[in-house]
Amino acid sequence: MTLAAGALFGLMWGTIIVSFASSIGATLAFLVSRYLLIDTVQNKFGDRLKSINEGIQRDGAFYLFTLRLVPVFPFFLINLLMGLTAIRAATFYWVSQLGMLAGTLVFVNAGTQLAQLNSLSGILSPSLLLSFALIGIFPLIAKKGLGVMRARRVYDGYQKPKTFDRNLIVIGAGAGGLVSAYIAAAVKAKVTLIEAHKMGGDCLNYGCVPSKALIKSAKLANQMRNAGHYGLDDAIPKFSFRKVMQRVHEVVAKVEPHDSVERYEELGVEVIQAYAKLVDPWTVEIKHSDGRVQHLTSRAIVLATGASPFVPPLPGLDDVGYVTSDTMWDEFAKLDEAPKRLVVLGGGPIGCELAQSFARLGSEVIQVEMAPRIMMREDEEVSELAKASLERDGVTVLTLHKALRCEKNGESKHLIVEHDGVEKIIEFDALLCAVGRVARLSGFGLEELGIETNRTIVTNEYLETGYPNIFAAGDVAGPYQFTHTAAHQAWYAAVNALFGHLKKFKVDYRVIPWTTFLDPEVARVGLNEQEAKEKGIAVEVTRYGLDDLDRAIADGAAYGFVKVLTVPGKDRILGVTIVGEYAGDLMAEFVLAMKHGLGLNKILGTIHAYPTWAEANKYAAGEWKRAHAPQKVLLWLGRYHTWRRGSPSKTAKVSKN
Ligand SMILES: Cc1cc2nc3c(=O)[nH]c(=O)nc-3n(C[C@H](O)[C@H](O)[C@H](O)COP(=O)(O)OP(=O)(O)OC[C@H]3O[C@@H](n4cnc5c(N)ncnc54)[C@H](O)[C@@H]3O)c2cc1C
Repeated sequence: MTLAAGALFGLMWGTIIVSFASSIGATLAFLVSRYLLIDTVQNKFGDRLKSINEGIQRDGAFYLFTLRLVPVFPFFLINLLMGLTAIRAATFYWVSQLGMLAGTLVFVNAGTQLAQLNSLSGILSPSLLLSFALIGIFPLIAKKGLGVMRARRVYDGYQKPKTFDRNLIVIGAGAGGLVSAYIAAAVKAKVTLIEAHKMGGDCLNYGCVPSKALIKSAKLANQMRNAGHYGLDDAIPKFSFRKVMQRVHEVVAKVEPHDSVERYEELGVEVIQAYAKLVDPWTVEIKHSDGRVQHLTSRAIVLATGASPFVPPLPGLDDVGYVTSDTMWDEFAKLDEAPKRLVVLGGGPIGCELAQSFARLGSEVIQVEMAPRIMMREDEEVSELAKASLERDGVTVLTLHKALRCEKNGESKHLIVEHDGVEKIIEFDALLCAVGRVARLSGFGLEELGIETNRTIVTNEYLETGYPNIFAAGDVAGPYQFTHTAAHQAWYAAVNALFGHLKKFKVDYRVIPWTTFLDPEVARVGLNEQEAKEKGIAVEVTRYGLDDLDRAIADGAAYGFVKVLTVPGKDRILGVTIVGEYAGDLMAEFVLAMKHGLGLNKILGTIHAYPTWAEANKYAAGEWKRAHAPQKVLLWLGRYHTWRRGSPSKTAKVSKN
């Protein structure tokens, strides 16, 4: 209709008529929605209203203007949904008219050009081609223009430096920060990495590395106790807990060079060990331990400040004392024996891994979880298996138990929990808080710059914060809290920070694996049954039991399963859960398959060495194939072979199964 208006009324009148007509029409739809159709619109499009409402609350008129200029939602939807927000009708009218004006002009102009066509060859006239090309590139120009406008608004009041000391400054040298800096140096950018505490962050110093070292010692102790299982004599492991903890620290020290200042400086990264704080969108204040304060400017900044353990506000907790994953490695290293009675608060992956390890190293462990089951993110059967394996190792797993307070009575320490309305007292020697980790959001300038946070730093799909030159990666950005996701995000943050003005990349969260290093390990990628149900996604479930795997039997670890969720009737993998030895390693093949769109047929058609654990993946694919065998073709094949043997009379007896 806009094209027709251009053809009929010419550029000026066409634009005026369409501009008023469309704005009045939009406002009428808006008013109808606000006063008459409110329930119908709410029921039909209510879920889309959420993002529009959030935008309006943030910045009403400007947000509507951006929707009009670059329509993310169809206009009819915007009119109806806006009627349900708090925006004033007059504001809606004038912002709509202004926002749609440029687009109207482009279309009316194309209409005027069409009207001038008087022969077929005129279709290829430069002015007509140009006006239609303009229709095509208008959204891109509008998007770019909006980006510039947004940036202007965000940076308003700050003086942008004329030159910069660095291309990139990275705050925090955990997985997220290290990888960001590494990438920047690899592409010859001038990059500074600032770390306030220990190079390597949580993973190296308090997380993955020490916990896996401890898990290994604990597993060996457990295997010794159960040596009979392997045809040897059961043996009570004799060990010094102090030495076990010493080994943990030695392992950390051995891995340390991978994340060291020296290594990163060799790679071309300038490393500063000091506390960093944003003072404006391009300037970082660096406070050295000797009191020196330095300022560096950078075109872009990556925030990779990580997360720290959450300590629940339990009355009396400070009086009885507690450890977290941050403090436990040093605190327990002072002990000759593992804590006799250890309470582990929390039934998540970290709580489970540590509860099992300490139980295997001789502690009486009581694990307290408020939720109905441990490892709540996993399927119920996985939680059950995890619980059973913890209990086998002597852990008392208390689910649906809420920690209320701690009390000290002389030397004895108590945790009071509530279950079914009844209070219980748990006496302990040490208490480990493992109830989750919270992003580090304060003290380094987010508040002063008004960078939005909501449990984590709020970023868009390019990992940009509200300031397009400041990015976030790793635990501080969420939504995942893994070393590999921090590293994954770091690539996007660094590349978008350095080259975003040329091309930006949306962070890809489609295939994210993770593993809980319990014994047996629990590994996941993509959907599980629980999530599929919650999201209403139809899936086909294929299982292969590891009790059937030759290598698992030989290793005395024939338990667990590979569970694959596929699109019904197709071999496309939607998610996999593996419970068993080396589950985390086995998962890699499915991660690769999902990432590159390879289905179960491709896994089945791949040679897996015998006898390996990896064969379990192939057998799972085989189970799927068997379930999809073409029964009718097989029936006829049976008949064919019977005929080939020369006994046609028996063809009728071929079983359908
Ligand atoms: C017990 C435990 C076991 C874990 N096991 C695993 C596992 O098996 N697999 C896995 O993938 N993940 C595991 N994790 C999680 C993993 O450790 C984290 O996801 C990962 O370390 C996140 O990296 P990051 O770079 O985001 O943050 P971090 O590693 O926390 O690094 C952030 C760094 O920023 C520094 N910093 C903060 N503020 C400033 C500032 N203002 N100036 C300068 N420096 C600053 C901090 O000192 C810190 O070193 C485990 C965690 C724990 C606690």
